[in-house]
Amino acid sequence: MSDKSYHFDVIVVGGGHAALVAAISAWDSGASVALVTKGKAGLGGSSVISDGVYAAIFSEHDSSDIYYTDILKGGKGLSNPRLAKVLAEECTERVMELESVYGVELQFEKIVATPGHFYPRRVYAGKGIGKTVTKALRDAAIDKGITLFENYTVLDLISDGKQNYGVVAQKDNQIYEFIAPSTILATGGFGGLYTSTDNPRDITGEAIGMVWRHGIELIDMEFVQFYPYRLKSPANIDVMTKIFGKGAILRNEKQERFMERYPKKELETRDVLSYEMFQQKEVYLDFSNVSENDLEIDSPALFRLIKKGHEGKWIMSPVQHYCMGGIKVDEWGKTSLNGLYACGECTGGLHGANRLGGGSITEALVFGKRTGYAAAENKKEITLFNYTKTVSPTDIEVNRELEKEIYTKVREIMWEKAGIERTTQTLLQAKEELNQLAEETSSVRLKDKIRAAWASVYAASIRIESRGAHKLQNAASEKKEWEGNIEIHNKSARFIPAALDEGRRKKEQVAYENHQV
Ligand SMILES: Cc1cc2nc3c(=O)[nH]c(=O)nc-3n(C[C@H](O)[C@H](O)[C@H](O)COP(=O)(O)OP(=O)(O)OC[C@H]3O[C@@H](n4cnc5c(N)ncnc54)[C@H](O)[C@@H]3O)c2cc1C
Repeated sequence: MSDKSYHFDVIVVGGGHAALVAAISAWDSGASVALVTKGKAGLGGSSVISDGVYAAIFSEHDSSDIYYTDILKGGKGLSNPRLAKVLAEECTERVMELESVYGVELQFEKIVATPGHFYPRRVYAGKGIGKTVTKALRDAAIDKGITLFENYTVLDLISDGKQNYGVVAQKDNQIYEFIAPSTILATGGFGGLYTSTDNPRDITGEAIGMVWRHGIELIDMEFVQFYPYRLKSPANIDVMTKIFGKGAILRNEKQERFMERYPKKELETRDVLSYEMFQQKEVYLDFSNVSENDLEIDSPALFRLIKKGHEGKWIMSPVQHYCMGGIKVDEWGKTSLNGLYACGECTGGLHGANRLGGGSITEALVFGKRTGYAAAENKKEITLFNYTKTVSPTDIEVNRELEKEIYTKVREIMWEKAGIERTTQTLLQAKEELNQLAEETSSVRLKDKIRAAWASVYAASIRIESRGAHKLQNAASEKKEWEGNIEIHNKSARFIPAALDEGRRKKEQVAYENHQV
């Protein structure tokens, strides 16, 4: 039995950028809204530690059509064109609202274009720290009267398979039900499932595993982005992209500039640069040609470190950064289950095989607003059926030590066998090892994390080519026949060619029966 039930028109799960925007949008559309999140709303998730870089159209000659083309090109032909069009068309209005509605100061980079963007589109909000924006959104949500349920972890959906009725959450050792005709998931990616990641600790992907457990469709799960501009030693910090437009370069252990042969050098897209870095024995940052003034303005964290007088090497190493794959949604955040919506990094399809810089927190603004609106429109009376509870108090009384041990193993498997470079063999091993680990725990939450990991490995094991962020050692090039998306649904996966219209897509899909976890 649950300890308490709450009823609202819209429940939003998550406390990052996408969740807060969706909650505010649903509220502004006339719904009563509860925001249910693991930590503190606006003070957790990747959003808070993001560099606060948005994308908008402000350069002379730039247009939403050009941005749209860049997104499709960056996604290696796999981005959902409808989602990409919405992002390109609505980004500017939404980004400008940060200043006009929330009072966050914006600055526009007019010279250096972010890798993959044809024109400069970078907009910095609040001195390059995501928290400036999420804190402003949190304050706005509280001012409006949105109810925040903080330190609640969502463990399950309340669903009869045709309609979703809310979620089950845990706080301390109690279970709570949140009932609503519309539920929005904005739970972020699954970056925490890798040993080496820049994502915060609360980003562990269990909600993605949870929806898959309920047979809701996932898409592009094999595409995981590794971020190249990351210093490993003397400290773990982001080295901002901009300094590579001002003279910074990367060298390998032989002191060679290994990106020399690429037209854009260190400003190639993240998938290309990360993979090249991965193939070097060691990678050093050389900022000797960057002026002190540029370092101070463009990469303040690095500048502060330099000022401390470090005399050794400046070692760089790519880390897991972003998940392109996730829950499949339409332009209004609708998933394959009625009453269930999703937005932000937990969704897939928009960025295809590789995301361009600035696209994620902009996506949170654009699709958060749309999803909140659509969820509020779905306002209706619901009669809660007598559902079978899949989470019982015994499921949450877990052996913490064992859970930690298993989780560490999951992260090692993902980093070593499904990381920057994969092979068909390492992926098959990873699938088996994850299956075994899932057997060793009774924790619903840990099993769902393993499901998310498994779904990513499963999709990666199907795609026998290298494309965007998916680098398969035994099939190093891109193949025309793999131009399409892998969707995972219930116990099977489907390959859906990208070039086909909706009707033909259904007929020509190829099914892979393989699901085990
Ligand atoms: C270091 C870093 C810098 C970045 N810089 C940029 C940038 O400058 N520009 C850009 O576009 N992108 C950037 N990104 C990516 C971007 O920050 C994220 O993709 C984006 O913030 C995701 O927002 P979100 O709201 O979807 O998820 P998140 O901000 O990750 O929030 C997810 C929320 O869901 C909660 N949650 C998760 N599971 C549950 C559960 N089971 N129950 C309850 N709550 C749950 C979490 O606690 C969290 O509050 C950066 C990422 C990192 C890590």
